[in-house]
Amino acid sequence: MKNCYLCTSTKNLTKDHIPPKNLFPSPKPTNLITVWCCKKCNEKFSLIDESFRVFTSSVINRSKSGTRIWDEKVMESSFKRSPKLKTATIKSLVPVETEINGIKVQTTGMTYPIKKTNDYLVRLTKGFTRHFNPEIDLSRANFKVNNIIPNQQIIDMLYQKFFYVERGDGVFKMWRMFAKDMGVMSIWVYVFYDGLMFTIEVN
Ligand SMILES: [Zn+2]
Repeated sequence: MKNCYLCTSTKNLTKDHIPPKNLFPSPKPTNLITVWCCKKCNEKFSLIDESFRVFTSSVINRSKSGTRIWDEKVMESSFKRSPKLKTATIKSLVPVETEINGIKVQTTGMTYPIKKTNDYLVRLTKGFTRHFNPEIDLSRANFKVNNIIPNQQIIDMLYQKFFYVERGDGVFKMWRMFAKDMGVMSIWVYVFYDGLMFTIEVN
C-alpha cells in the first residue's frame, strides 16, 4: 500500500522510521523498519520525537544505549538547540521510587504529558501494523495506553507468548499478541532503553 500510514494521503510521500531513528546511537542499525508517510504527518511528529527521546533516555535504570543517547544527543544536541525543552524537562522532575536489580531506590524522574505519550505510541502501533499486517485497518480502532514497571516475570511471559521484534542494542523492544479471547483486538508492549515499558490495547 503506497499511501500515508497515518492519514492515507498519497501526496508528498516520504519514509518514516518506526520506531524513530533518533532513538538509536551511532552506528544506527541497518534493519530499521520504514513505512510510507506523507510529509505533513512526518513533520508533525518531529518535536514529539525529540521530547519523547528526552523522556525515555532520562530514566535511571536505562541501558547503555540510553545513557549514550542522553549524554551525546539530549545534553549535547537537544538541550543546546532548545533551552526551552531543557527548562521544561527540569520543571517536570518529581521524586520517584524505582527498582534497580531488585533494590528500591529514591530518585527523581521526569514526567511527560500523557497525551504526547499516547500520540507517540499509537503512531508506532499504526506503523508496525502497516509493516507487519497491512491487511488490518486501524482507522476506527481505539487505543488504550498504560505505563507499567518491567519485571522478569512479565518479560519471560512476553517472550513465550508474544510476537517479538527488537531493534538496536538495548534501545527498543516490542511484543505483540492478537487477543480476541481477552476481549481486545491486539495487545502491544514497548520497552525503551530497557527502562520504560508501556502496553497498548487496541480495540
Ligand atoms: Zn499523512
